[in-house]
Amino acid sequence: MKIKFPLIIVGSQWGDEGKGKIVDLLAKDADYVVRYNGGNNAGHSVVLNGEKFKLSLLPSGVLHQKKLFLSQGVVISPKVLLDEIEFFKKRGTRVDLMIDPRCNIVMPYHRELDRATEIWKGKKATGSLHLGIGYCYEDKNNRSGIRFEDLIDTQALKEKIETFFPLKKLQIEKVFNQKTDLTSEKIYQEYVRYGKKLKKYLGDVSVIIQKSLSKRTKVLFEGAHGTFLDGIFGTHPYTTAVYTISGGVFPYVGLAPQKIYSLGVVKAYTTRVGNGPFPTELFDKTGEKIRKVGAEYGTVSKRPRRCGWLDLCLLRTAIRLSGLDYLGITKLDVLSGLDKIRVCTEYKINREKIKEVPGLMNDFSKCKPVYQEFKGWKENISDIRKFVDLPKEAKIYLKFIEKELKVPVKIISVGAERNSNIIL
Ligand code: GDP
Ligand code: MG
Repeated sequence: MKIKFPLIIVGSQWGDEGKGKIVDLLAKDADYVVRYNGGNNAGHSVVLNGEKFKLSLLPSGVLHQKKLFLSQGVVISPKVLLDEIEFFKKRGTRVDLMIDPRCNIVMPYHRELDRATEIWKGKKATGSLHLGIGYCYEDKNNRSGIRFEDLIDTQALKEKIETFFPLKKLQIEKVFNQKTDLTSEKIYQEYVRYGKKLKKYLGDVSVIIQKSLSKRTKVLFEGAHGTFLDGIFGTHPYTTAVYTISGGVFPYVGLAPQKIYSLGVVKAYTTRVGNGPFPTELFDKTGEKIRKVGAEYGTVSKRPRRCGWLDLCLLRTAIRLSGLDYLGITKLDVLSGLDKIRVCTEYKINREKIKEVPGLMNDFSKCKPVYQEFKGWKENISDIRKFVDLPKEAKIYLKFIEKELKVPVKIISVGAERNSNIIL
């Protein structure tokens, strides 16, 4: 059974599962690649011939020079996007991009408010990177955002900044007691230049993608973050502001509900950045080893990622929420050399055993993992390209996961390079 299009790539854990790599791999067979949620707080890495490309806004299909789209669910920090475009243009990579007029723009006051809020929260801070993404979505939802259509219209841009900024300034200075050097004029002067440079990418992504789907164009949708960073169904409030589950694709692009296949990217263990509950977290040498071997440090933030064992309760919930058709398991190579590997098969809470993430976050923080233990393998598996060639112990581990989750594993990634995979 081949992987079918249209296809959504979603993270099944807390992000950084290796979606960038999987999107790059599958983009070869796609015509269009659409990024549909999140902002530049999401970082994806693609490694090609030893060179590492860090992407935070451009869809990971850029290296295949596919037609790229940013749909309305994405919030855009124009300078970051322009830098990424410039980077690829300089190396001779064509950037064929379309941006939806409804995309909201991240403004400097969003970043300042973000920082001020985290200072105010102190110990209870969510671990935001102060990129202003959450505040941009807040304005978007409250209909007081600046959209791409405004950014490229000098008059609208000026008027909107003059309307919205004075209130933001009051908030920063009077509510949070922080200083700001921003003025409406400074913001306008900076952003009007971005608008001029980005104007040529304008296009109605909703219309184009809807039409292309009816013509059977192969569309790949790139989700940012992971299932448990979903703004509603994730580990609230330690999440991002958007839907990260597959169904978000319909409103975030502007599509009617229809069958779109989905592939969940699953790291062979679990990581998360920032605060919040994490039942299978390791605080010992094994956790340190995984962090070191897996280079588990944030692409954008550089923060060490918290590491732990694979958690099937998370994955069952991710499968249920996104209706995953396929799984792609990444970073299996990182587990090589461990004596024992554990998998959380259930949670114990009070005297009960449960198989999924509970709906009440208060209960989730009380969940204790129940583990099944597996023998590890010693061999380096990075050069293996066929399932049969894997060490016996690795096969047992993978077969167990597939059997428990009842979703076919189609890709096993054994290294960061584009071709370091076992395709099933
Ligand atoms: P994303 O946010 O889901 O796209 O993931 P990130 O790119 O933030 O983090 C995944 C990291 O793991 C990146 O540095 C990738 O280059 C790397 N990576 C992806 N797949 C593999 C793999 O199979 N093995 C190893 N060792 N590294 C991988
Ligand atoms: Mg990432």
